[in-house]
Amino acid sequence: MKFIDLTHRFEDGMPVFPGDPHVRILETRNDYILSRIEAGMHAGTHIDAPRHAGYPGTVETISLERLTGTGFLTSPEGIKSHVPGGIAVVRTGWSSRWGSEDYFINYPFLSMEIADELLDADVKGVCMEGPSVDRHGEMEIHRKLLKNGVWIIENIKNTELLPERFRLFAVPLAAAAEASPARVFAVLE
Ligand SMILES: [Zn+2]
Repeated sequence: MKFIDLTHRFEDGMPVFPGDPHVRILETRNDYILSRIEAGMHAGTHIDAPRHAGYPGTVETISLERLTGTGFLTSPEGIKSHVPGGIAVVRTGWSSRWGSEDYFINYPFLSMEIADELLDADVKGVCMEGPSVDRHGEMEIHRKLLKNGVWIIENIKNTELLPERFRLFAVPLAAAAEASPARVFAVLE
């Protein structure tokens, strides 16, 4: 078995979406070390639950069964071959810009047609290599997917290491909130 980590490192001062809270990991040293974090729930690789778009459903309400499945690669232009009931991973190459000034601005996003294709394929979730499934400043694709119970992971990396098919695991906190940082990884048989 081979494991491929699709997660950006969660660290102090990491890049965040413009306007989002900065990530701070503050360490206190006494007899032992104890850290406190300050961060938005959408920092780094994270999951969006339906509540993010105003629908019922926080992160902890998404079943573990829906957070794992057969992953398949797609591009923002269209789905070549999908796996019904699987998890779509949108490979864009954009993670190579992580830390650059335009990472959160001119990124690739999904069209309404692709969102419809993904819903037709009955996917459990969509993992986006980039900061959002929507164009900067818009929310339409989020609404479409989340309304239909399809979770969204944003800011993944290492998609160039993935084959066409793999087992995908998305592991957020059991957060009673609309989003949560998540560990996302693929397992190849
Ligand atoms: Zn988000």
